[in-house]
Amino acid sequence: MLWARNLNAGAKPGRIATPRERSAMADQATAAFLGLAIGDALGATVEFMTPREIRQEFGVHCEIVGGGWLRLKPGQVTDDTTMSLALGEAILAEGRVDARAAAEAFDAWMRAKPVDIGNTVRRNLITYRKTGNPEAPASEHDAGNGAAMRILPVALATLGQGREVLATACRAQGHVTHHNILSDAACIALAGMVQDFVRGKSVEDVERANAAPLVAVHPVFDYTVKPRDNPSGFVVETIQAVLQALFATETFEDCVVDVVNRGGDADTTGAIAGMLAGARYGLDAIPVRWLRRLDRGVAESCRLQAEALLTLSAKGPAPERIRGD
Ligand SMILES: [Mg+2]
Repeated sequence: MLWARNLNAGAKPGRIATPRERSAMADQATAAFLGLAIGDALGATVEFMTPREIRQEFGVHCEIVGGGWLRLKPGQVTDDTTMSLALGEAILAEGRVDARAAAEAFDAWMRAKPVDIGNTVRRNLITYRKTGNPEAPASEHDAGNGAAMRILPVALATLGQGREVLATACRAQGHVTHHNILSDAACIALAGMVQDFVRGKSVEDVERANAAPLVAVHPVFDYTVKPRDNPSGFVVETIQAVLQALFATETFEDCVVDVVNRGGDADTTGAIAGMLAGARYGLDAIPVRWLRRLDRGVAESCRLQAEALLTLSAKGPAPERIRGD
């Protein structure tokens, strides 16, 4: 069984990780997945609220209490987490990141009537049903955060396989619903950040290697100019809010609380910030009160997928694996 194999994700391509490195990577990969779900569950309560409305109702919103416009149970998650898990399942079943397998998984996910679904996701999955083409038409308008919010399983499955493999895999999964250059750039930067944190890089190195090049190529992402409150579903605003919260704080809790209290698309900013902060700080940094509140089935799936995806990554890029097998 896939879950039961020993983790062997190389810290560098071509080098076998030591047991200590493997266990640190598994810890941080698991924390990234649980952080994604926790940020989603926390942020969903205040999605579409302004910072002022949040202050009036909660003071500081920092407890997983459910509610919000989706009327969630405490600990229930939304599309950010459930689409990530659907994608992770497809990657594990296929043994690689595959656009058609992702499209089928997302289509099955949509048929199961999720609590929430983005407009771009719905539209392009309906197009997929008609055309059978798992790559949506390119569109400058499809720059929502729907592909970026579910990038984590791709980051874990391609850990240690180099940036080209990562970028190709990001585009394959992203283009199922968001065929857009800004969405692609955000997905690649986020996945690179997760990988670098999981491999033990410092926050300064992670920013230099991922966030700085993102802004250099696409200056619209510049997150240093003004505070991004009330971020919309536009991937640029989402990334700006997340990076500001990540780089301005020094704990998992502070990072996630910072970003969700900015309101707007708070479940998605919470999910992405939780993913990055989990990868940065590891499992011990996640508040126990939040872990206890998270839906148990979701938490178990996050843990199992994180380990299984790391195990898959250690086998190397898919073409080599096919030749080797
Ligand atoms: Mg959501």
